[in-house]
Amino acid sequence: MKAATVRYILDTIGELFPDAHCELNHSNAFELTIAVLLSAQCTDETVNKVTKDLFQKYKSPEDYVAVPVEELEQDIRRIGLFRNKAKHIRNLCMLLMEQYGGEVPREHDELVKLPGVGRKTANVVVSNAFDVPAIAVDTHVERVSKRLGLANWKDSVLEVEKKLMKQVPREEWTLTHHRLIFFGRYHCKAQNPKCQVCPLLDVCREGKKRMKTSQIRKDK
Ligand code: SF4
Repeated sequence: MKAATVRYILDTIGELFPDAHCELNHSNAFELTIAVLLSAQCTDETVNKVTKDLFQKYKSPEDYVAVPVEELEQDIRRIGLFRNKAKHIRNLCMLLMEQYGGEVPREHDELVKLPGVGRKTANVVVSNAFDVPAIAVDTHVERVSKRLGLANWKDSVLEVEKKLMKQVPREEWTLTHHRLIFFGRYHCKAQNPKCQVCPLLDVCREGKKRMKTSQIRKDK
C-alpha cells in the first residue's frame, strides 16, 4: 500500500477517534497486567466491573498469593475462564515475587515469560504502563487491518503486527493501536460494519465489496 494511503487511513481514523485510549481501568503496571490477563475472551466492561473491587482487595502480588486460589476464583467468577485465569494470576504473582522483586518487568522479553502473558499482553503493558511504543494486535486490530488492506487476509497475528510496525511511524504505534481498536469496536464492527457512512470506503477493499454485494441484492 502507498505511504500516502496509509497516512490517509491513519489520519481519518484519528479524526474519528482522537481520544482513543486503553479502556481497561488500572493505576499501575501490575494492575494493568492483571486486567489484560482477565480480558482474554471477555469485554473490557466486564473486566472493569470485576477489577473495581478486585484492585481494592488485592494491591500486590503478595495479596493474591496470601489467599486460597478458590477465594480468588470466587472474586473473578463473573469473568469467562475464571478458574484458569485465577491459576495464571497466582502463578504470575509467585514468579513476580521470586524473580522480579514483586515488580512487573519493563522488558518485553521478560514479560512474555510470565504465566498467562503472551505477546499481545506484553505489548499492551509496555506501551501503556512504560511508554514504549508497541502495536498489540487484538481481534479488532487484526480485522480492521485486513479489511483495509494494511495486511493480507492470510497473515498471522504476528505478521499483521510486523506489517503495521513497518507502515506506521514508530512514535504513532501506541496511539494507532488504540485508534484501530476503537475503530473496530465502534465503527468497523465484526458484524455490520458502517460501510455506507465510512470515510474510508474509497480506499477499503472490503467496504467496496460489501457495498457491491448489497447493491446486487437490492437490484434483484
Ligand atoms: S468501508 Fe466498511 S469495512 Fe471498510 S473500513 Fe469502513 S466500515 Fe470497515
